[in-house]
Amino acid sequence: MRAAVLHETGQDKLEVLDDVEAVGFGPGKVRLRIRATGLCHSDLSAMNGVLPQPAPFVPGHEGAGEVLDVGDGVTGLSAGDRVLVCWLPACGACASCKRGQTHLCLAGFMNAGTPNFKRPGGDVFGFAGTGTFTEEVVVGANCAVAIPDDVPFEIAALIGCGVTTGLGAAINTAQVEAGSSVAVIGCGGVGISAIQGARVQGAAQIVAVDPVASRREAALRFGATEAVSPDEFGDAKQRITAGEGFDYVFEVVGKSVTARTAYENTRRGGTLCVVGAGAMDDNFEVNMFELFFDEKRILPSMYGGGDVLRSYERAIALWRAGRIDLESMITHRVRLDGINDALDQMRTGESLRTCIEL
Ligand SMILES: [Zn+2]
Ligand SMILES: [Zn+2]
Repeated sequence: MRAAVLHETGQDKLEVLDDVEAVGFGPGKVRLRIRATGLCHSDLSAMNGVLPQPAPFVPGHEGAGEVLDVGDGVTGLSAGDRVLVCWLPACGACASCKRGQTHLCLAGFMNAGTPNFKRPGGDVFGFAGTGTFTEEVVVGANCAVAIPDDVPFEIAALIGCGVTTGLGAAINTAQVEAGSSVAVIGCGGVGISAIQGARVQGAAQIVAVDPVASRREAALRFGATEAVSPDEFGDAKQRITAGEGFDYVFEVVGKSVTARTAYENTRRGGTLCVVGAGAMDDNFEVNMFELFFDEKRILPSMYGGGDVLRSYERAIALWRAGRIDLESMITHRVRLDGINDALDQMRTGESLRTCIEL
């Protein structure tokens, strides 16, 4: 079957191969036929080595499709079911899961060191233990979450990562208050989802900050009340908050420099919510005086915080009610052969989300 493979970390092109086999099927596992997968910035970060990931590997972790086969002991799923791929599955038994913080469950990461694929040349890993730039993949049953019939695969795929991450940051982690002022730094798919989350929560002002003009225009369509380039951000802060700083600033880039900008533009006592996935050698600095004196709350948010399955259900409910727009987030569509063009569109900021149809 066909899959897009990165041979070595640091390469910027994937090779679409037709000699890849999905492996690992057995008790507790399901075999999926992927139908749609989104391209998330974390796929690029795994390719260039910012996020740890053994190679060669099949990127992709934002996917949806149908169950082809279920292994022994799998309950609640059967062949033909429509599912989205959860790249951070909850074991249900660890201390984090018992607290309702299933996004902190580490059980899923244990799968990341086991190859999901093989080809005549040897083993091939799947990104984050999944790997969705492929026609088929075998995953643990808790990585396959059934979706209602009215949710298209491409919408389900987005909910599998970007939408859940951005919405959850605003709703679960920061708990944006009605009437507040919000700034979102970085307006790709996750940033746009954070903007939509802030709007759902009733924020009065939502300032989108992004160097790319097309993303600023998009942000306005999704609920930002204004959109500025990074060098206009200081003026916006003066104008909107009388220089005090925003009640909430979301950092959706994953770099210490933008996190520091976000910190400085958060008001005293306000909330900096760090959503971007950054590198292990990129350190964010705050001095001990400002940390104490300014009492800014620094809240990291991984995969939207909170209970992952509940976040999926909430995203579906908001989408169904027309309170969030997920269709318009898909700005590009390609087949698997067009994957390298899609990667380039993401690198330049041209796309919000590319849907790869399989
Ligand atoms: Zn767990
Ligand atoms: Zn992602």
